[in-house]
Amino acid sequence: MDKAKFYGLTQPELEQYLVGRGKQKFRAQQLFRWIYGLRVVDPEQMTNLAKDFRRELPLLFDFSLPAIVKEWVSDDGTKKFLFDMGQGRSVEAVLIPSQDRLTLCVSTEVGCNMACQFCYTGKQKLLRRLEVWEVVGQFVQVSDRLEPGSRITNVVFMGMGEPLDNPEAVFRAVEIWHNPWGYNFSLKKVTVSTSGLVPQIPLVTASGTRLAVSLNAATDEIRDQIMPINRKWPLAELLEACRQHARESKDKVTLEYVLLRGLNDSVEDARRLFHLTKNVPCKINIIPFNEHPDSGFGRPAESTVDEFQKELMRLGAHVLRRKTMGRDIYAACGQLTTAYKNHPQQTQI
Ligand code: SF4
Repeated sequence: MDKAKFYGLTQPELEQYLVGRGKQKFRAQQLFRWIYGLRVVDPEQMTNLAKDFRRELPLLFDFSLPAIVKEWVSDDGTKKFLFDMGQGRSVEAVLIPSQDRLTLCVSTEVGCNMACQFCYTGKQKLLRRLEVWEVVGQFVQVSDRLEPGSRITNVVFMGMGEPLDNPEAVFRAVEIWHNPWGYNFSLKKVTVSTSGLVPQIPLVTASGTRLAVSLNAATDEIRDQIMPINRKWPLAELLEACRQHARESKDKVTLEYVLLRGLNDSVEDARRLFHLTKNVPCKINIIPFNEHPDSGFGRPAESTVDEFQKELMRLGAHVLRRKTMGRDIYAACGQLTTAYKNHPQQTQI
């Protein structure tokens, strides 16, 4: 009989699996408490479980997690983790510290088919979608390595892959993190970022997580050029889906806007962006482009970024400039890759 991947099961799925093998349903809740809540993984220490059941656990479940094969530490404290996903494939997760947060950026796919022109991951075709246990495992493995007393406070699906191209794994992983017997992680501390898969946006609303959209252009002409998905779901449809999400969730959408030198970074672009989004309850995150090999795009001058931000503020937009973290270890936005050899040699821990 095949063993189930423990870290791939939600509580109802675990209950069903146990009942199907003649076990009591409430064992699922106990296992969630031990494995996620208390991080006790040795069955012998699970003292409120019957001895026979404890002995059976390794026969019922595969408790493996994706292995971290390398870590990098940035000068600013950002850490990047390389996960082995088998068959020579890997993905990355990034842990970003800030004053009051510890944010984990997770990956959902090996490679990505969305082909956003400014993104390093997008240069590698989709090789496969991660499974639930592989998404859950990034959180568990990084959590296990934190200093005592420290915990992940936020999760963003902004790593490798388009999360809404793998919604099954994404929303089941969220359900597992959110389970009150386990990590009890707040849904409102999870942000799902999409390049614009419009038909899937209601899944974010239904899940209770927050929505971010990688917008990056204020006209269809420019967006078609840098984000091929726009040819299928242009700006008007995308922003209507954002409005609907905001209405139903009563939450603001985060619109991410990567500033690319000479392409979308003028004061005129800022005005267009304001008028395009003024009827969407949102905040705009501007992100000066993080250069990477062969990208073909440039990072705007600081003065250009300032003028862009000031114009949006002058018009009354809620705008923030995202601080670039982890650039020296290629952990910044749009720099993640499955190509291990492209990594610079940085501090290993
Ligand atoms: S930005 Fe996101 S959706 Fe676009 S290619 Fe990169 S990983 Fe894929």
